Amino acid sequence: MKNLHLLLSLILISTTTVTATATAVDSGSSPTVCIIGAGIGGSSVAHFLRRYSTSEIGTIRILERNDVVGGRMATVTISGQTFEAGASILHPKNYHALNYTKYLNLSVRQPPRSESDSCFGIWNGRNFVFKTLSSSSNFPIFQRVVSFANSVLIFFRYGFSLFRMNSFVDSTVSNFLKYYEGFESRPVFETAEEMLKWSGLYNLTTRTLQEELIDANLSPRLIEELATVITRINYGQSMSISGLAGAVSLAGSSPDLWSVEGGNRRMAVELINHSDVKLHLNEEVKSVSFIEQKYQLNTTKGKSYQCGITVVATPLDELKIQFIPGISIPERKLQHTYTTFIRGVLNPAYFGLGSVSEIPQLIGTVETPDVPFSSISVLKQHKENDMSYKVFSRKPLDDELLDRIFSVRNETVKIDWAAYPHYHAPEVFAPFILDGQHLYYVNAFENAASTMETSAVAAENIARLILSRLTGEIPSSSVELKSFGDDADDVHSDL
Ligand SMILES: Cc1cc2nc3c(=O)[nH]c(=O)nc-3n(C[C@H](O)[C@H](O)[C@H](O)COP(=O)(O)OP(=O)(O)OC[C@H]3O[C@@H](n4cnc5c(N)ncnc54)[C@H](O)[C@@H]3O)c2cc1C
Repeated sequence: MKNLHLLLSLILISTTTVTATATAVDSGSSPTVCIIGAGIGGSSVAHFLRRYSTSEIGTIRILERNDVVGGRMATVTISGQTFEAGASILHPKNYHALNYTKYLNLSVRQPPRSESDSCFGIWNGRNFVFKTLSSSSNFPIFQRVVSFANSVLIFFRYGFSLFRMNSFVDSTVSNFLKYYEGFESRPVFETAEEMLKWSGLYNLTTRTLQEELIDANLSPRLIEELATVITRINYGQSMSISGLAGAVSLAGSSPDLWSVEGGNRRMAVELINHSDVKLHLNEEVKSVSFIEQKYQLNTTKGKSYQCGITVVATPLDELKIQFIPGISIPERKLQHTYTTFIRGVLNPAYFGLGSVSEIPQLIGTVETPDVPFSSISVLKQHKENDMSYKVFSRKPLDDELLDRIFSVRNETVKIDWAAYPHYHAPEVFAPFILDGQHLYYVNAFENAASTMETSAVAAENIARLILSRLTGEIPSSSVELKSFGDDADDVHSDL
């Protein structure tokens, strides 16, 4: 494993000793907690620190380089219409997110039936190897018939492998649900490996999705088509993605996916509003120095903040934050996903078709150099030949290519996301505690999988880890996270 460790700066301090031995915090005073990043990870750390502590935590500051909160949960506006630009879908068993919406009085948005039954096709660069039927009818009965016919079509193509794929996903989800258990049975974890081993998910991070699906007895056709399509859409990566991230990606094709009305970023906005936080927008942290038992954070605004505890809630991989003394984390590449939003209409000739109505509303793609994009989906049909689309690709799409794929382009917005880790089995994890003191790293868990919910789960553990190391006790809570039912509506209400 060459280049395993990237020495970010001078000295490695990696003694993640047991709880309550850290000395960075003065005893007797409630320490200031500084959080770098106002995404779902940073806002969740603030939320859980407030929720699990009484007087142990003093001021909480969140420093955010952007002028808005949310990070990779963001919206984009094209021709006056707003859409999710980054993280867009939540799973029905994402219980922290569900709890947030309830606690913060946000509304759950479920895609209208017409959207979830839209026509889906698999493109290999020359033709559609598989296509479902589309229902343009507004009559529910007709829509149900089409939906049933599509289930039959999918079954004919992929057979019983579909059930085997579902049970692979279900067993992963059921292990993941252990992270909502009450404090009596759920330890505080000092490392991501420990956390994953405890839930039975660690082994999935050591092998590729392809290996896992072959072992689960899935047919080559399902692996090369359906599973590949889903993984390219959700992580822009191939079947060599590590198994846990792959399973999470496949779970992202379940029915009953949802999002937050008004944008998923509203979760971060409202968590911060409800957590007595001093929020510093437009303030990028340039350096973190450990001086006289305190962290000094220097920002691009020329300001310095003294913090007893510092939480890094952003991937460090492409950042230039200077740590003094230095820290060491494993090298990790981020997968860039180019997201292109277009108001216009696709060109049927590009797909060898005669009319726009024959083009599927969701185009997935197989792994081949012949296709320059990972997926194209209709976000909204405004009129017959006027739609908003989202295109995912691994490389930027130039205008000349876009003009071949689209016959009309009224507006185009391009975003280059440093989206998620480029997953590579066996995954190697950075520590949660970066310096043996009180410098924490939420996004060490992102090697497991990158989602809004996994960030919230990691953040909840970091909040407990901070409190347990401060006080020497495992924080207790009157709320048992496990008291969820199977039903998405059955959300615990007293968070
Ligand atoms: C295109 C795309 C699609 C996705 N789809 C989904 C999906 O459908 N469902 C899902 O659950 N997940 C999805 N994800 C993944 C999801 O967005 C992330 O896993 C999650 O939002 C990560 O949250 P975070 O808070 O850990 O990090 P981020 O959201 O990246 O937050 C980190 C914050 O730190 C700030 N920051 C960075 N450096 C500094 C600094 N030096 N000083 C101050 N601030 C700093 C950043 O500006 C950012 O706001 C998607 C991601 C992308 C990019």
